[in-house]
Amino acid sequence: MVEEICNTCGLPKSLCVCVEIDKETQKIKISVVRTRFKKFLTTISGLDEKEKLKELEKTLKRKLACGGTVKDGVIVLQGNHSKKVKEVLLQQGYKEGLIEGA
Ligand SMILES: [Zn+2]
Repeated sequence: MVEEICNTCGLPKSLCVCVEIDKETQKIKISVVRTRFKKFLTTISGLDEKEKLKELEKTLKRKLACGGTVKDGVIVLQGNHSKKVKEVLLQQGYKEGLIEGA
């Protein structure tokens, strides 16, 4: 019987630690999407501190003067704020190397 090989590291699944590594290097992803109503939304995903999400969402809304919500662990802001969001995240102490996109 052949053991399944991990696609990421090439090691057998029993030796693979990719999932654990993922957690440590989890990236915050900023994306801008366009809705079918031709409006922009900025999403911030990859934040795993659930209890802090709401707080961060409030801070972002205040600093960017926009509407927003938290949905399934993702902060969704109205408008295209990718650059500003990154600035605010850095001000909040998130590491630049962990922030992707924008
Ligand atoms: Zn692996």
